[in-house]
Amino acid sequence: MDIIESIDNLSVQDPPGEDFSAADLDWVKLGSEDRYDDVALIPYDRVDAFIIGECSNVECPTRFHIERGRKRAKGSLKQYKNDEYLEYRLYWCSFGPENYGEGGGILPSRRYRLNTRNRAARPQSMRGCTCHFVVKRLYARPSLALLIYNERRHVNKAGFVCHGPLDRDAIGPGAKKIPYVCSEIQQQTMSMIYLGIPEENVLEKHIEGIQRYCGSDAKVKSLASQYVQKLGMIIKRSTHELDLDDQASIRLWVERNKKSIFFYRDTSETDPFILGIQTEWQLQQMIRFGHRNIIAADSTFGIKKLKYPLCTLLVFDSRQHALPVAWIITRSIAKPDVAKWMKALLDRVHSVDPGWKASGFLIDDAAAEIEPIREVFSCPILFSLWRVRRSWLRHIVKKCTNIEVQREMFKRLGQIMYSIWGGVDLAVALEEFSLDFVDQTSFMQYFKDSWVPKIEMWLTSMKTLPLASQEASGAIEAYHVKLKTKLYDDSHLGSLQRVDWLVHKLTTELHSSYWLDRYADESDSFVNVKEEYIASTSWHRALQIPDNAISLDDRDHLFAKVVSQKDSKVTRVVWNPGSEFAHCDCEWSLQGNLCKHIIKVNMVCENLQCYQSSLSFQSLKNILIDLWEKPMDDSVALDISTAWTHQMLDQVQKLVELNSSDDIGLVVNNMPLKWVAKKVRTTSGRQSSTLALSSSSKNDYARKRNRKRKRLSRFR
Ligand SMILES: [Zn+2]
Ligand SMILES: [Zn+2]
Repeated sequence: MDIIESIDNLSVQDPPGEDFSAADLDWVKLGSEDRYDDVALIPYDRVDAFIIGECSNVECPTRFHIERGRKRAKGSLKQYKNDEYLEYRLYWCSFGPENYGEGGGILPSRRYRLNTRNRAARPQSMRGCTCHFVVKRLYARPSLALLIYNERRHVNKAGFVCHGPLDRDAIGPGAKKIPYVCSEIQQQTMSMIYLGIPEENVLEKHIEGIQRYCGSDAKVKSLASQYVQKLGMIIKRSTHELDLDDQASIRLWVERNKKSIFFYRDTSETDPFILGIQTEWQLQQMIRFGHRNIIAADSTFGIKKLKYPLCTLLVFDSRQHALPVAWIITRSIAKPDVAKWMKALLDRVHSVDPGWKASGFLIDDAAAEIEPIREVFSCPILFSLWRVRRSWLRHIVKKCTNIEVQREMFKRLGQIMYSIWGGVDLAVALEEFSLDFVDQTSFMQYFKDSWVPKIEMWLTSMKTLPLASQEASGAIEAYHVKLKTKLYDDSHLGSLQRVDWLVHKLTTELHSSYWLDRYADESDSFVNVKEEYIASTSWHRALQIPDNAISLDDRDHLFAKVVSQKDSKVTRVVWNPGSEFAHCDCEWSLQGNLCKHIIKVNMVCENLQCYQSSLSFQSLKNILIDLWEKPMDDSVALDISTAWTHQMLDQVQKLVELNSSDDIGLVVNNMPLKWVAKKVRTTSGRQSSTLALSSSSKNDYARKRNRKRKRLSRFR
């Protein structure tokens, strides 16, 4: 047996074909007589192709997930060995590493188990598979990756093949148990049941899924059918109430769902209750969509109705829809408490991807503590007005019956918001507002009680923090509305004060629904789910309205009309066009939502001279002017600022080019980097940031724009 001690003379292998696997490579033993690993050297940009190839192993089809990762900055080492890593990732077969099966150390998740004394059916996903490999991007040669295979067989600790057609427990004469189902199929089947999809359709999709892993015959089908039935029954009978006492019940839940919790502190005399929930899947989504992107908070949900309010952290997915990646249930907004759970969350993310970083954190509550965000996430903080807009509009509609009065009041409130940069005296503006609408006593009372005491705080936040776009605000609102419909359906009014019920709802129904949305979109299946998901934000619905459906009042710019696409006899009137505080007479808007008509009208107005630009754009302009007016010295600090500003301008330039171009190909070809049509998603998760900073962000950025472009063109 030849064992090499150094990778110096190792040749780089680049097998042909789109994907390739371990079988296509020549493996060399690296190390010493006592300890050695199988290694191979490949170009770094073919790592994804290798992982895809490894997943489609005929004998053991699987997925690989990142179990651990580490990163170093270029230039951070003075001395290094030639196999030192720049980036280190440990990939593990998703049928491991835990073993939830017989003989395994961990009990299967009991969330979906019948409460019987029988043992659980053979657990479905975690089978203690030990197959894993390491990808080391070389510090000395970043264009290359060293693959280190530690265990190539898909076997458990006892050395038995533990999944795939060769798993003797799964099929074959000795099979007493149902064919295993990987976690993806399990999640799919569960999600479909939660969404109330008829059992025969669930079964059909379920069988389609397991066939990928273990062929098909009558036995498999009948077992699959039993499985789906059983799961349906388990879900129907599953209850949030693990104990009559809510606190004890939550304790039990926490005990049983350790993998889905990033922070937990029980109520005590000195400390308030905090529960931070994040499932494995949510963690992966946070890593994938949150890196160099915006994290947003939908805070203080249910502050009146729920026992403890709920805060959701959201990322914007590939369609810029808000996707919940963490839930925090607590009443405490005290700085040390917020800092604690935030840090725990970030530590969890960093344990998988140490290079992960958010580009911005979007808050929606002026009372929120921003210091912990700055300290923990160390990124800029943005502010969204969706919450205040929604409250005001809802109360105006509820408390003022005359639609003309509604329009004017909302417009005036908008003007106060827009005037923050104009040096208008707030006290005078508020006084005038209350005098002009003095007869609207009910609204005025609400406004005086709820807003006058804190409006200055809100306006200060608006002035000091950059403001979020309408697309982002709309996406957060869409999440908020969905959460509301799921939680406040009338069947559970008695449960609102129980935390275990809230946790159950979030981690089963809501989680499943988002999981299936993403799955439908990425696998291009479940056409109805996918369509509904795409159209789930006002922004997307607005993109489907053609420009010629909009007519503006050219004389006074008081209103715009939008012809309905479904019924051309119906026309919506959007009052105060060009403003986030526009008022539309459609039903959706009258419920307080930012509707597609307003967004579309504002999209049209944005390009017209005679309308004001949006709050977020005015806020950006203001930041730039501030920057411009700052005193400068001719230092290195200035060079750095110049470099960053230049990069930012470059990005804005690309955005404008892409948005105004009819042929995306032309723009892309002019980019300094060669356009590579990568698979949007691989099993390895997020596209790793492999290129140098400037070029990779540009490329990421272009790819994102491209997706957006594609979805735009689909609607045209
Ligand atoms: Zn495996
Ligand atoms: Zn509308």
